Amino acid sequence: MSGSIEYRIRNAKVKCTGKLCRQVISYSEFTFFAINDEGGMILECESCKQILAVKMSNPVESSVLGAEKIDVFEGYDDAALFFKYGLVESDVIAVAGIEYKTAEKKPLGWPFGNVPIYFDNEVDFESLAFKELAKAATDLNKEFKNYVNWYVKGQDCKRIFVVLNFHSEGTGQRAIFSKNIEFEGQLNIKDLLMVHHSSADLSCNVDGLYSKDQCFVFLQKLLLRWMHIADSVLLVVPFVGYPYKGQAEKNVELWEFLDTHTDLKKTQVLTRKATFGLYRSSAATATIPYEVMEEWDFLPDLQKSLHESGKPFFQASHAKFYAGIFKGRVEVLSGSYNLHKGPSMENIVFRNYSTEEFANRYTDRLGDSFMVESEDDIPIYYFMVVDEKVINGERQPFSEFEKLYLR
Ligand SMILES: [Zn+2]
Repeated sequence: MSGSIEYRIRNAKVKCTGKLCRQVISYSEFTFFAINDEGGMILECESCKQILAVKMSNPVESSVLGAEKIDVFEGYDDAALFFKYGLVESDVIAVAGIEYKTAEKKPLGWPFGNVPIYFDNEVDFESLAFKELAKAATDLNKEFKNYVNWYVKGQDCKRIFVVLNFHSEGTGQRAIFSKNIEFEGQLNIKDLLMVHHSSADLSCNVDGLYSKDQCFVFLQKLLLRWMHIADSVLLVVPFVGYPYKGQAEKNVELWEFLDTHTDLKKTQVLTRKATFGLYRSSAATATIPYEVMEEWDFLPDLQKSLHESGKPFFQASHAKFYAGIFKGRVEVLSGSYNLHKGPSMENIVFRNYSTEEFANRYTDRLGDSFMVESEDDIPIYYFMVVDEKVINGERQPFSEFEKLYLR
Protein backbone atom coordinates (compact mmCIF):
# COMPACT_ATOMS: atom_id res chain seq x y z
CA MET A 1 0.00 0.00 0.00
CA SER A 2 1.27 3.45 -0.78
CA GLY A 3 1.65 5.91 2.06
CA SER A 4 0.10 8.83 0.23
CA ILE A 5 -3.53 9.80 0.58
CA GLU A 6 -5.37 9.59 -2.72
CA TYR A 7 -7.77 12.36 -3.58
CA ARG A 8 -9.47 14.23 -6.40
CA ILE A 9 -9.85 18.01 -6.55
CA ARG A 10 -12.91 19.60 -8.09
CA ASN A 11 -12.90 23.32 -8.80
CA ALA A 12 -16.19 25.15 -8.62
CA LYS A 13 -17.60 28.65 -8.59
CA VAL A 14 -20.64 30.08 -6.88
CA LYS A 15 -22.16 33.54 -6.90
CA CYS A 16 -22.58 35.68 -3.82
CA THR A 17 -26.19 35.69 -2.60
CA GLY A 18 -25.93 39.37 -1.59
CA LYS A 19 -28.48 41.69 -3.17
CA LEU A 20 -27.00 43.38 -6.28
CA CYS A 21 -23.65 41.70 -5.62
CA ARG A 22 -22.09 39.98 -8.64
CA GLN A 23 -19.07 38.60 -6.84
CA VAL A 24 -17.95 35.20 -8.13
CA ILE A 25 -16.43 32.97 -5.46
CA SER A 26 -14.13 30.14 -6.50
CA TYR A 27 -13.32 27.19 -4.30
CA SER A 28 -11.78 23.77 -4.47
CA GLU A 29 -13.37 20.62 -3.14
CA PHE A 30 -11.35 17.57 -2.17
CA THR A 31 -12.78 14.08 -2.41
CA PHE A 32 -10.75 11.38 -0.73
CA PHE A 33 -10.97 7.77 -1.78
CA ALA A 34 -11.42 6.68 1.82
CA ILE A 35 -13.53 8.75 4.23
CA ASN A 36 -15.10 12.11 3.40
CA ASP A 37 -16.46 14.68 5.84
CA GLU A 38 -19.77 16.03 4.64
CA GLY A 39 -20.59 19.59 5.60
CA GLY A 40 -19.85 23.01 4.28
CA MET A 41 -18.21 26.40 4.66
CA ILE A 42 -19.47 29.67 6.04
CA LEU A 43 -18.09 32.42 3.80
CA GLU A 44 -17.95 36.18 3.97
CA CYS A 45 -18.10 37.83 0.55
CA GLU A 46 -15.02 39.94 -0.15
CA SER A 47 -17.02 42.52 -2.01
CA CYS A 48 -20.30 43.07 -0.03
CA LYS A 49 -19.55 41.22 3.25
CA GLN A 50 -22.67 39.07 2.87
CA ILE A 51 -22.47 35.82 4.84
CA LEU A 52 -23.33 32.69 2.90
CA ALA A 53 -22.97 28.95 3.34
CA VAL A 54 -21.83 26.44 0.73
CA LYS A 55 -22.54 22.75 1.24
CA MET A 56 -19.67 20.48 0.25
CA SER A 57 -17.38 17.64 1.25
CA ASN A 58 -14.25 18.21 3.32
CA PRO A 59 -14.68 21.96 3.88
CA VAL A 60 -11.59 22.14 6.09
CA GLU A 61 -9.31 21.31 3.13
CA SER A 62 -10.97 23.70 0.69
CA SER A 63 -9.28 26.91 -0.45
CA VAL A 64 -11.41 29.89 -1.41
CA LEU A 65 -10.99 32.96 -3.66
CA GLY A 66 -13.34 35.94 -3.62
CA ALA A 67 -14.54 35.34 -0.07
CA GLU A 68 -13.14 34.56 3.34
CA LYS A 69 -13.79 31.18 4.94
CA ILE A 70 -14.89 32.13 8.47
CA ASP A 71 -16.26 28.80 9.68
CA VAL A 72 -17.04 25.23 8.65
CA PHE A 73 -19.94 22.99 9.54
CA GLU A 74 -20.46 19.27 9.82
CA GLY A 75 -23.46 17.59 8.29
CA TYR A 76 -25.57 19.46 5.80
CA ASP A 77 -28.12 21.01 8.15
CA ASP A 78 -26.30 22.70 10.97
CA ALA A 79 -29.19 24.79 12.28
CA ALA A 80 -27.26 26.09 15.26
CA LEU A 81 -24.42 27.39 13.12
CA PHE A 82 -26.74 28.91 10.52
CA PHE A 83 -28.53 30.68 13.37
CA LYS A 84 -25.21 31.94 14.78
CA TYR A 85 -24.40 33.63 11.47
CA GLY A 86 -27.95 34.81 10.88
CA LEU A 87 -28.30 32.70 7.75
CA VAL A 88 -31.67 32.05 6.17
CA GLU A 89 -32.37 29.23 3.76
CA SER A 90 -31.74 31.30 0.65
CA ASP A 91 -28.21 32.11 1.85
CA VAL A 92 -27.28 28.46 1.80
CA ILE A 93 -25.96 27.22 -1.51
CA ALA A 94 -26.71 23.55 -1.81
CA VAL A 95 -25.04 22.71 -5.12
CA ALA A 96 -21.99 24.21 -6.76
CA GLY A 97 -22.95 26.89 -9.27
CA ILE A 98 -20.55 25.81 -11.95
CA GLU A 99 -17.75 23.30 -12.11
CA TYR A 100 -14.62 23.87 -14.16
CA LYS A 101 -11.28 22.39 -15.06
CA THR A 102 -8.32 24.36 -13.78
CA ALA A 103 -6.96 26.41 -16.66
CA GLU A 104 -3.37 25.91 -15.67
CA LYS A 105 -0.81 27.34 -18.02
CA LYS A 106 1.24 24.33 -19.02
CA PRO A 107 4.98 24.65 -19.58
CA LEU A 108 5.37 25.62 -23.20
CA GLY A 109 8.32 23.51 -24.30
CA TRP A 110 10.36 24.22 -27.39
CA PRO A 111 8.39 23.92 -30.66
CA PHE A 112 11.12 22.47 -32.92
CA GLY A 113 8.62 21.81 -35.71
CA ASN A 114 11.32 21.07 -38.32
CA VAL A 115 11.62 24.78 -39.04
CA PRO A 116 14.46 26.34 -37.06
CA ILE A 117 14.85 30.10 -36.88
CA TYR A 118 18.28 29.81 -35.25
CA PHE A 119 20.46 28.33 -37.99
CA ASP A 120 23.31 29.18 -40.32
CA ASN A 121 23.65 27.53 -43.72
CA GLU A 122 22.98 23.88 -43.03
CA VAL A 123 23.65 23.98 -39.28
CA ASP A 124 20.52 23.79 -37.10
CA PHE A 125 21.58 25.54 -33.89
CA GLU A 126 18.34 24.67 -32.15
CA SER A 127 18.81 20.89 -32.02
CA LEU A 128 22.55 21.41 -31.51
CA ALA A 129 22.11 23.80 -28.57
CA PHE A 130 19.46 21.66 -26.86
CA LYS A 131 21.80 18.65 -27.16
CA GLU A 132 24.63 20.68 -25.60
CA LEU A 133 22.28 21.88 -22.87
CA ALA A 134 21.45 18.26 -22.02
CA LYS A 135 25.18 17.53 -21.64
CA ALA A 136 25.44 20.28 -19.01
CA ALA A 137 22.25 19.14 -17.26
CA THR A 138 23.83 17.56 -14.17
CA ASP A 139 26.03 20.54 -13.48
CA LEU A 140 23.29 23.06 -14.17
CA ASN A 141 20.72 21.34 -11.97
CA LYS A 142 23.28 21.34 -9.15
CA GLU A 143 23.69 25.11 -9.57
CA PHE A 144 19.95 25.57 -9.63
CA LYS A 145 19.84 23.75 -6.29
CA ASN A 146 22.41 26.15 -4.85
CA TYR A 147 20.43 29.02 -6.23
CA VAL A 148 17.31 27.88 -4.32
CA ASN A 149 18.72 29.41 -1.11
CA TRP A 150 19.12 32.72 -2.84
CA TYR A 151 15.74 32.50 -4.41
CA VAL A 152 13.94 31.65 -1.19
CA LYS A 153 15.59 34.53 0.64
CA GLY A 154 15.36 37.19 -2.00
CA GLN A 155 12.62 36.05 -4.36
CA ASP A 156 13.44 38.94 -6.65
CA CYS A 157 14.97 37.10 -9.61
CA LYS A 158 12.06 35.45 -11.32
CA ARG A 159 13.74 35.06 -14.68
CA ILE A 160 16.71 32.79 -15.18
CA PHE A 161 19.04 32.71 -18.16
CA VAL A 162 21.59 30.12 -19.21
CA VAL A 163 24.47 31.37 -21.35
CA LEU A 164 25.66 28.21 -23.06
CA ASN A 165 29.09 28.33 -24.71
CA PHE A 166 30.11 25.34 -26.79
CA HIS A 167 32.11 24.33 -29.84
CA SER A 168 30.74 23.01 -33.10
CA GLU A 169 33.21 21.90 -35.75
CA GLY A 170 35.92 24.08 -34.26
CA THR A 171 33.80 27.21 -34.09
CA GLY A 172 32.72 28.81 -30.82
CA GLN A 173 28.95 29.07 -30.40
CA ARG A 174 26.78 30.73 -27.80
CA ALA A 175 23.12 29.94 -27.20
CA ILE A 176 20.95 31.74 -24.65
CA PHE A 177 18.10 29.99 -22.84
CA SER A 178 15.55 31.46 -20.52
CA LYS A 179 12.76 30.49 -18.16
CA ASN A 180 10.47 32.23 -15.71
CA ILE A 181 10.34 30.91 -12.16
CA GLU A 182 7.05 31.01 -10.32
CA PHE A 183 7.77 28.46 -7.62
CA GLU A 184 10.76 26.62 -6.16
CA GLY A 185 9.98 23.36 -7.96
CA GLN A 186 10.80 25.02 -11.27
CA LEU A 187 14.43 25.59 -10.32
CA ASN A 188 15.91 23.08 -12.79
CA ILE A 189 16.71 23.00 -16.49
CA LYS A 190 13.30 21.63 -17.52
CA ASP A 191 11.34 23.80 -19.96
CA LEU A 192 14.16 26.22 -20.71
CA LEU A 193 13.37 28.08 -23.93
CA MET A 194 15.91 29.20 -26.51
CA VAL A 195 15.83 32.97 -26.93
CA HIS A 196 19.01 33.77 -28.84
CA HIS A 197 21.93 32.33 -30.76
CA SER A 198 25.14 34.21 -31.49
CA SER A 199 25.60 32.97 -35.07
CA ALA A 200 22.02 33.05 -36.32
CA ASP A 201 20.95 36.05 -38.37
CA LEU A 202 17.17 36.06 -38.17
CA SER A 203 16.78 38.57 -40.99
CA CYS A 204 18.50 36.11 -43.34
CA ASN A 205 16.78 33.08 -41.89
CA VAL A 206 13.17 34.20 -42.04
CA ASP A 207 12.53 35.71 -45.46
CA GLY A 208 10.49 34.15 -48.26
CA LEU A 209 7.50 31.95 -48.92
CA TYR A 210 6.40 29.49 -46.26
CA SER A 211 3.33 27.42 -45.50
CA LYS A 212 0.96 28.80 -42.88
CA ASP A 213 2.06 25.96 -40.61
CA GLN A 214 5.70 27.04 -40.93
CA CYS A 215 4.78 30.68 -40.34
CA PHE A 216 2.95 29.59 -37.20
CA VAL A 217 6.11 27.95 -35.83
CA PHE A 218 8.23 31.01 -36.70
CA LEU A 219 5.78 33.25 -34.90
CA GLN A 220 5.64 30.89 -31.94
CA LYS A 221 9.43 30.96 -31.54
CA LEU A 222 9.54 34.73 -31.87
CA LEU A 223 6.75 35.19 -29.30
CA LEU A 224 8.69 33.02 -26.85
CA ARG A 225 11.83 35.08 -27.56
CA TRP A 226 10.00 38.37 -27.09
CA MET A 227 8.13 37.22 -24.00
CA HIS A 228 11.50 36.70 -22.30
CA ILE A 229 13.77 39.38 -23.72
CA ALA A 230 11.79 42.20 -25.39
CA ASP A 231 10.62 45.28 -23.46
CA SER A 232 7.23 45.14 -25.10
CA VAL A 233 5.38 43.35 -27.88
CA LEU A 234 2.92 44.64 -30.47
CA LEU A 235 0.80 42.20 -32.46
CA VAL A 236 -1.26 43.60 -35.31
CA VAL A 237 -3.29 40.70 -36.59
CA PRO A 238 -6.51 41.43 -38.49
CA PHE A 239 -7.60 37.80 -38.84
CA VAL A 240 -7.45 34.89 -36.40
CA GLY A 241 -8.88 31.62 -37.69
CA TYR A 242 -11.67 31.18 -40.23
CA PRO A 243 -15.42 31.80 -40.18
CA TYR A 244 -16.17 28.36 -41.65
CA LYS A 245 -18.33 25.63 -40.24
CA GLY A 246 -16.39 23.14 -38.14
CA GLN A 247 -13.61 25.67 -37.42
CA ALA A 248 -14.84 26.88 -34.03
CA GLU A 249 -12.56 24.70 -31.96
CA LYS A 250 -9.49 25.62 -34.04
CA ASN A 251 -10.35 29.32 -33.75
CA VAL A 252 -10.54 29.08 -29.98
CA GLU A 253 -7.21 27.21 -29.96
CA LEU A 254 -5.55 30.02 -31.91
CA TRP A 255 -6.75 32.56 -29.38
CA GLU A 256 -5.54 30.33 -26.57
CA PHE A 257 -2.18 30.21 -28.34
CA LEU A 258 -1.99 34.02 -28.28
CA ASP A 259 -3.01 34.02 -24.64
CA THR A 260 -0.34 31.54 -23.56
CA HIS A 261 2.46 33.03 -25.66
CA THR A 262 2.13 36.63 -24.54
CA ASP A 263 2.79 38.42 -21.29
CA LEU A 264 -0.16 40.79 -21.25
CA LYS A 265 1.59 43.28 -19.01
CA LYS A 266 3.79 44.27 -21.91
CA THR A 267 1.80 43.22 -24.96
CA GLN A 268 -0.78 44.91 -27.09
CA VAL A 269 -2.89 43.08 -29.65
CA LEU A 270 -4.73 44.95 -32.40
CA THR A 271 -7.34 43.13 -34.40
CA ARG A 272 -10.59 43.69 -36.30
CA LYS A 273 -13.83 43.90 -34.39
CA ALA A 274 -15.29 41.16 -36.60
CA THR A 275 -12.35 38.88 -35.72
CA PHE A 276 -13.09 39.22 -32.04
CA GLY A 277 -16.75 38.59 -32.85
CA LEU A 278 -15.68 35.36 -34.55
CA TYR A 279 -13.85 34.36 -31.37
CA ARG A 280 -17.01 34.95 -29.35
CA SER A 281 -19.19 32.86 -31.63
CA SER A 282 -16.49 30.16 -31.89
CA ALA A 283 -16.26 29.99 -28.10
CA ALA A 284 -20.04 29.56 -27.91
CA THR A 285 -19.80 26.54 -30.23
CA ALA A 286 -16.55 25.01 -29.02
CA THR A 287 -16.51 25.67 -25.28
CA ILE A 288 -19.00 27.74 -23.32
CA PRO A 289 -20.72 30.94 -24.47
CA TYR A 290 -18.67 34.10 -24.11
CA GLU A 291 -21.29 35.74 -21.89
CA VAL A 292 -21.16 32.81 -19.49
CA MET A 293 -17.36 32.89 -19.44
CA GLU A 294 -17.51 36.58 -18.68
CA GLU A 295 -20.19 36.24 -16.04
CA TRP A 296 -18.28 33.54 -14.21
CA ASP A 297 -14.88 35.13 -14.68
CA PHE A 298 -13.48 32.39 -16.94
CA LEU A 299 -12.23 34.64 -19.73
CA PRO A 300 -8.53 34.30 -20.51
CA ASP A 301 -6.57 37.49 -19.76
CA LEU A 302 -6.03 38.48 -23.37
CA GLN A 303 -9.67 38.08 -24.35
CA LYS A 304 -10.70 39.95 -21.21
CA SER A 305 -8.42 42.84 -22.11
CA LEU A 306 -9.81 43.01 -25.65
CA HIS A 307 -13.27 43.14 -24.18
CA GLU A 308 -12.52 46.06 -21.86
CA SER A 309 -14.00 49.19 -23.29
CA GLY A 310 -12.11 52.43 -23.76
CA LYS A 311 -9.03 50.82 -25.20
CA PRO A 312 -8.24 51.10 -28.88
CA PHE A 313 -7.79 47.41 -29.52
CA PHE A 314 -9.71 47.37 -32.73
CA GLN A 315 -8.64 48.63 -36.13
CA ALA A 316 -10.13 48.36 -39.57
CA SER A 317 -6.91 47.93 -41.53
CA HIS A 318 -5.55 44.77 -43.08
CA ALA A 319 -1.95 45.57 -42.06
CA LYS A 320 -0.31 42.64 -40.34
CA PHE A 321 2.93 42.60 -38.41
CA TYR A 322 4.35 41.23 -35.18
CA ALA A 323 6.93 43.32 -33.33
CA GLY A 324 9.30 42.78 -30.42
CA ILE A 325 10.35 46.19 -29.08
CA PHE A 326 13.73 46.52 -27.37
CA LYS A 327 15.66 49.57 -26.13
CA GLY A 328 16.73 51.43 -29.28
CA ARG A 329 15.70 48.68 -31.71
CA VAL A 330 12.72 46.73 -32.91
CA GLU A 331 12.36 43.26 -34.45
CA VAL A 332 9.49 42.88 -36.89
CA LEU A 333 7.94 39.87 -38.59
CA SER A 334 5.69 41.09 -41.37
CA GLY A 335 4.07 39.91 -44.57
CA SER A 336 0.84 38.29 -45.59
CA TYR A 337 0.55 35.94 -42.63
CA ASN A 338 -2.46 36.20 -40.32
CA LEU A 339 -2.92 33.78 -37.44
CA HIS A 340 -3.98 30.67 -39.36
CA LYS A 341 -2.79 27.12 -39.80
CA GLY A 342 -2.67 25.12 -43.01
CA PRO A 343 -0.49 24.12 -45.96
CA SER A 344 -1.05 27.14 -48.26
CA MET A 345 1.74 29.67 -48.79
CA GLU A 346 2.34 33.08 -47.28
CA ASN A 347 5.19 35.55 -47.69
CA ILE A 348 6.93 36.76 -44.53
CA VAL A 349 10.14 38.58 -43.70
CA PHE A 350 11.99 39.32 -40.47
CA ARG A 351 13.63 42.74 -40.19
CA ASN A 352 15.48 44.91 -37.66
CA TYR A 353 14.69 48.62 -37.29
CA SER A 354 15.84 51.43 -35.05
CA THR A 355 13.11 52.73 -32.73
CA GLU A 356 12.74 55.85 -34.92
CA GLU A 357 12.46 53.89 -38.17
CA PHE A 358 9.86 51.63 -36.61
CA ALA A 359 7.82 54.58 -35.36
CA ASN A 360 8.01 56.31 -38.78
CA ARG A 361 7.11 53.28 -40.81
CA TYR A 362 4.70 51.47 -38.54
CA THR A 363 3.31 52.77 -35.27
CA ASP A 364 2.90 56.47 -36.22
CA ARG A 365 0.66 55.32 -39.03
CA LEU A 366 -1.57 53.35 -36.69
CA GLY A 367 -2.70 56.60 -35.08
CA ASP A 368 -3.52 56.57 -31.40
CA SER A 369 -4.00 52.85 -31.17
CA PHE A 370 -0.44 52.11 -30.17
CA MET A 371 0.07 52.10 -26.42
CA VAL A 372 2.24 49.22 -25.26
CA GLU A 373 3.79 49.60 -21.85
CA SER A 374 7.39 48.57 -21.39
CA GLU A 375 8.56 46.01 -18.90
CA ASP A 376 10.63 47.44 -16.04
CA ASP A 377 14.33 46.72 -15.88
CA ILE A 378 13.98 43.58 -13.76
CA PRO A 379 16.89 41.84 -12.04
CA ILE A 380 17.68 38.48 -13.61
CA TYR A 381 20.00 35.63 -12.67
CA TYR A 382 22.17 33.82 -15.17
CA PHE A 383 24.41 30.79 -15.29
CA MET A 384 27.45 30.86 -17.55
CA VAL A 385 28.24 27.45 -19.04
CA VAL A 386 31.52 26.76 -20.80
CA ASP A 387 32.16 23.32 -22.26
CA GLU A 388 29.46 21.58 -20.22
CA LYS A 389 30.46 23.13 -16.86
CA VAL A 390 28.86 26.03 -15.01
CA ILE A 391 31.71 28.49 -14.39
CA ASN A 392 29.72 31.39 -12.99
CA GLY A 393 26.32 32.47 -11.74
CA GLU A 394 25.39 36.10 -11.35
CA ARG A 395 22.54 38.44 -10.59
CA GLN A 396 22.30 41.40 -12.92
CA PRO A 397 19.83 44.04 -14.13
CA PHE A 398 18.28 42.71 -17.33
CA SER A 399 19.44 45.78 -19.33
CA GLU A 400 23.08 44.93 -18.55
CA PHE A 401 22.60 41.31 -19.50
CA GLU A 402 20.90 42.31 -22.75
CA LYS A 403 23.83 44.54 -23.74
CA LEU A 404 26.36 41.80 -23.05
CA TYR A 405 24.70 38.68 -24.41
CA LEU A 406 21.66 39.36 -26.54
CA ARG A 407 22.97 41.56 -29.34
ZN1 LIG B 1 -21.23 39.79 -2.21
